[in-house]
Amino acid sequence: MKPISAREKRLTGQPVSPGIAIGVLHEASEAALTFSSAKPEPAAIPEELTRLDEAVLRSRAQLQKLKTRLTALPKDSQAEIAPLLDVYLHMLGPTRLMRGIKARVKSGEQNAEAATHAEAEAQAEAILAQPGTDKSSRQRRADEVREVARRLIRNLTRQPFRSFEVLPQGSILAAQDLRPAEAALIQPSRFAGIVTAEGGLDGHTAVMLRALGLPAVLGVSGLLEKATVGRLAIVDGDSGDIILNPSRDSLDAARKKLSAQARARRALSRLQHLPAQTRCGAQVELQANLELPFELKMIAESGARGIGLLRSEFMFMNRDVAPDEETQTRIYRDIIEAMDGDPVTIRLLDWGSDKDVETLARFMPDAPEPNPALGMRGIRLLLRHQTLLETQLAAILRAATAGPVRIMMPMVSLAKEVVDTREAMQRVWRRLKHRRNLRLPEKMPPLGIMVETPAAALSAPLLARHADFFAIGTNDLTMYTLAADRSLPGDMKLYDPLEPAVLRLIHLTASFAAAAGIPVSICGELASRPAAAPLLLGLGIRHLSMNGNAVPRVKQAIRASTLLACEQLANAALAAPDAEAVRDILASLQSAGSAVS
Ligand code: PEP
Ligand code: MG
Repeated sequence: MKPISAREKRLTGQPVSPGIAIGVLHEASEAALTFSSAKPEPAAIPEELTRLDEAVLRSRAQLQKLKTRLTALPKDSQAEIAPLLDVYLHMLGPTRLMRGIKARVKSGEQNAEAATHAEAEAQAEAILAQPGTDKSSRQRRADEVREVARRLIRNLTRQPFRSFEVLPQGSILAAQDLRPAEAALIQPSRFAGIVTAEGGLDGHTAVMLRALGLPAVLGVSGLLEKATVGRLAIVDGDSGDIILNPSRDSLDAARKKLSAQARARRALSRLQHLPAQTRCGAQVELQANLELPFELKMIAESGARGIGLLRSEFMFMNRDVAPDEETQTRIYRDIIEAMDGDPVTIRLLDWGSDKDVETLARFMPDAPEPNPALGMRGIRLLLRHQTLLETQLAAILRAATAGPVRIMMPMVSLAKEVVDTREAMQRVWRRLKHRRNLRLPEKMPPLGIMVETPAAALSAPLLARHADFFAIGTNDLTMYTLAADRSLPGDMKLYDPLEPAVLRLIHLTASFAAAAGIPVSICGELASRPAAAPLLLGLGIRHLSMNGNAVPRVKQAIRASTLLACEQLANAALAAPDAEAVRDILASLQSAGSAVS
C-alpha cells in the first residue's frame, strides 16, 4: 500500500454483504513460516518424497489458478505478473532446484520442508554471489527461488499464506483476494468490514462473507495501490463505495447510516414471528442457508423455518485430512438438534470450481484439471470417489435420527447421477442397518437435486422421476447459462442472475416440478435479494432459502406483494430483452410501492 496521504478518496466495487463499516484499514499480510527440521527415519523417506510431490502439485494448481485470475487485472499489471508466475511454474518442474531438494530428502539428512528451505537458500546465496551480472537481476532471481520455496513449504506444512489473527480488533481487512477457505477462518467479531481488489458478487467468498454478516465490498480495482494502510476508511456494503481518509462530513453521513440501519434492523426483527405470506394470503416458506455452524444462533433469530441448504464444504476446509464418519455424524447431529425439529437439507460435498477445498487435493487426478468448473465437480467427483460419498451418506443417515433431514446432490446434469447416488444411499443404509446394527431413522430421507446446470433445468421432467425435490442454485445456473464466472468482478457485466435466459430456466424448472408434483425451492443468492422476491413468486416459486440475515427483508417484500402483481411482473421480466431491463422493471415497481395491488 501507498504511504500515508490525507485527502479523501473514493473507490467502488461490488457490494456483496450489506452494512456500513468504519475502521482503520489493515492489509492481510503473510504469516511467519515455521516448520520442523526432524530427520525422517530411513523407512519414511519414500513417504517424504510423496509429500513433496503432492506439495508440488498443489503449488502448481495454485499458480495456474492465479494465472487464470490475472485476466481481471489491468493490462500493465498482467504484463508484469504473468511472466513471474510462469517462472515459478517452471521452477516447480524438473529443475536444478527440485533436483537439489529431492537429493537432500533421498539422502535421509532432512525432511521435505527442511530440504526445500536449505536447497533454496543455498541456490539463492549462490545466485547472489555470481560475479559479473547486474546486482538487481541477481537479487530478483534469488527472490524467485525463495518465493517458490516458501509456497512449497506452506503446502507441505498446510500453513495458511496469511494470518488474520495479528490484525487489530475492529479493523477493515483489505486484501488483493480472499479465498473461501480463508474467509472461513475469519472471526466476524474481530473486523468491522472487508474489502478486496478481486472477487465477484456470487463467488463462494462473497457467499461466506454474507454468512459472516460483515459489510464487504469485493472487486475494487486497484485497491492496494490506491489505499493507505493504517488510515481510517468507510466500507459501504450496500452501495459498493469505499471512502479512504474520509472527511468529517463523510464520517457523519456514515454514522447516520449506521444508526438508521440499526433502527431498520430492530423494526424488521418484529417480523420474526409473522408468517411469510402475500397480501392475498399465499404462503411462502423461508429457510436459511448455512455455510458455517456459528450462524445457527442468527438463523434461530431470523424467523427462518429450517435450513434449506447446508453447504457441507466447511467441514473439509483448513484440515489435514478429510473428516471421518464419526466427526461428520457429530457435526450434522449438532446442527439438526439445534434446529429443534425444523427440517435440515444437507448438501453433499460440492468440491470444485471456486470451492477449492485443499484437503481433497489428493483425490484429484495427477495433473491439475485445466478447468474444474467444467469437469470433476460436485456429484461427478463424489461418484468417482465412492469412499468419500459413502462416508458422507453414512454420517448423514446416522445423524438423521436427530430430526427431519433431506439429502441434496450438487451439480447434477444427468439422471444417471441421481440413480447412482440413490443406489449408493441404499447400499449405505443396508450396511449401517444390517451389518453394523446402527440406529437409523424410520424412513430413508428424501434425496433431491440442485438444479444449477442448464442440462438439469431442461431435463427436469426426467430428473423428477428420480429425485424427490429440486432446489435451484441460481449462482451456478447463471454461471453455466451465461458462460460467465460467478467470481468475475461486476464491472465486466457478464454474470447476472437477472438475465431473462436464467429467469426462463427458473420458470421452466418451477413449471416442470409443479407438473411432476415435487417441491422446488431457490437456494442461490438471488433468493436473498428482497427486490427479486416478487419476481421469483411470479415465476412459480413458493420456497426460498437464503442467508439468514436476509430473511426479514425478504419476508417484508413478500408481505407487501400480491400474487397477481408478482405474475404480471414475472411476465414482463420474461419478455424483457436483458438484465438491465429486468432491473428497471423491478425498480419501477419498487418506487411505485413494491409488487402491490
Ligand atoms: C448455487 O449455485 O446457487 C448454490 C446455491 O450453490 P453454491 O453457491 O454453494 O455453489
Ligand atoms: Mg452451486
